[in-house]
Amino acid sequence: MPEEPTEPPETPLDAETVEPAPRPMPRCPRCGWQNVRISLTKGPLDLILGVVSIQRFKCRSCGNYFRRWRRL
Ligand SMILES: [Zn+2]
Repeated sequence: MPEEPTEPPETPLDAETVEPAPRPMPRCPRCGWQNVRISLTKGPLDLILGVVSIQRFKCRSCGNYFRRWRRL
């Protein structure tokens, strides 16, 4: 009677299966929605702010413009 090897079933790495969030979007400070998009920089002020990693966002819900650190 051969003994079958009792290997534990392969468990997926939970740490690797976290949904990817390469660029988490900030929340709109006005309405609190996360339905925002990055507003392209156009003016010289935005270029300067882009150097210090501040990006301009626009809320799709209320149309509010706001700036946030890019790393947030
Ligand atoms: Zn909003």
